[in-house]
Amino acid sequence: MAGNSKTISIFGATGSVGSSTLDLVRLDPDAYRVAALTAHSNVEELAALAREFHAGRAVIGDENLYEALKSALAGTDIDVAAGDEALVEAASMPVDWTMAAIVGCAGLAPVMRSLEQGRTVALANKESLVSSGALMMAAAQKSGATLLPVDSEHNAIFQCLQGGKIEEVRRITLTASGGPFREKSLQEMRAMTPAQAVAHPNWDMGAKISVDSATMMNKGLELIEAYHLFPVGLDKIEILVHPQSVIHSMVEYRDCSTLAQLGSPDMRIPIASALAWPARMTTNCTPLDLASVGKLSFEEIDNKRFPGPSICRVAISQGGARPAILNAANEVAVAGFLNGQCGFLDITAIVSQTLERYDPGQPVTIQDILAIDSEARSVAQDILNNYR
Ligand code: NAD
Ligand code: MG
Repeated sequence: MAGNSKTISIFGATGSVGSSTLDLVRLDPDAYRVAALTAHSNVEELAALAREFHAGRAVIGDENLYEALKSALAGTDIDVAAGDEALVEAASMPVDWTMAAIVGCAGLAPVMRSLEQGRTVALANKESLVSSGALMMAAAQKSGATLLPVDSEHNAIFQCLQGGKIEEVRRITLTASGGPFREKSLQEMRAMTPAQAVAHPNWDMGAKISVDSATMMNKGLELIEAYHLFPVGLDKIEILVHPQSVIHSMVEYRDCSTLAQLGSPDMRIPIASALAWPARMTTNCTPLDLASVGKLSFEEIDNKRFPGPSICRVAISQGGARPAILNAANEVAVAGFLNGQCGFLDITAIVSQTLERYDPGQPVTIQDILAIDSEARSVAQDILNNYR
């Protein structure tokens, strides 16, 4: 083990964000020691990564795959574990830095465990923060954990906030590409297929967030994420469509000075910022070439075609269990759309109907959030089953 190496764990190592993180580690492998790598079901890829990076432990989320992972790692000294509890245990390992890149509320328990241990957590897994909100922020504050936003917009805001104080902020502008259907009519959107929805014009991402970008529910989830990460108040957070995805977000201060963070649309750039934080690392990402971009343009969201962000704004202003219900329903509806169980426009309709049908009391613990998440999934599933 190198003396100055950073010990890291990557939750969701086989995904889009996980792979981008490991690409950065490959640039200087001696600078890192990999404690744990996790995946949900891709045994071969997880085993190959664990071997390549000499991971201390490999954890597969699906507990039925324990034997398969064990045999794929036979002859190595890599610890093998499986199941949800093993994911949480892996979050207890002593590390300097954790990448939280599981998709969905499934990542909540390991993120909470990392934060409770006072760790530095690079948060890509927005759904965990959307669902648990103030409870997650309070856990981080209590333990002294550091939460580094990885979502490109939130990483941009985090960087822009180095230029002033949070109480001096007049407005935060979250930029949105508008997704693949920005210029489609409602009529056209109705017929969009999963293959069309996951073909994002600027970013190459996992299937769930790609569909969220197409509905723009992603921007709504990001509004909720920003509300918790940057305590300026909901009315000071705006969304602006910027199709080129060059300006990743902006912070306007009370003197009317606006700071923005720019870069090529490549997730390795915000991940590198979180990985090296508070320093800067050298990457092999493509530098921004504004002359070849030519023009940057901006427009308002069309709330009629993209109701997701306003549903999210209402949910976070109501608070309590609403964001957790919204997130759970969206996860179910997106999975239903990807499986051909409902149409594209049904996704946000299912979310709204779930919010109408289910109204539990105020969550006070993470267990409450997990129970609400589970119940909201059944309600949404029931609504989904009645489509088609
Ligand atoms: P992905 O689908 O490519 O990867 C998800 C990872 O999580 C995989 O390693 C998978 O094995 C694991 N996983 C999935 N379900 C799991 C479960 N039930 N239990 C344990 N592990 C599970 O997703 P992604 O695009 O890398 O996104 C990951 C997170 O980062 C999401 O929350 C997403 O919103 C956020 N994010 C992604 C991007 C991007 O460019 N991909 C950008 C910003 C934010
Ligand atoms: Mg984003």
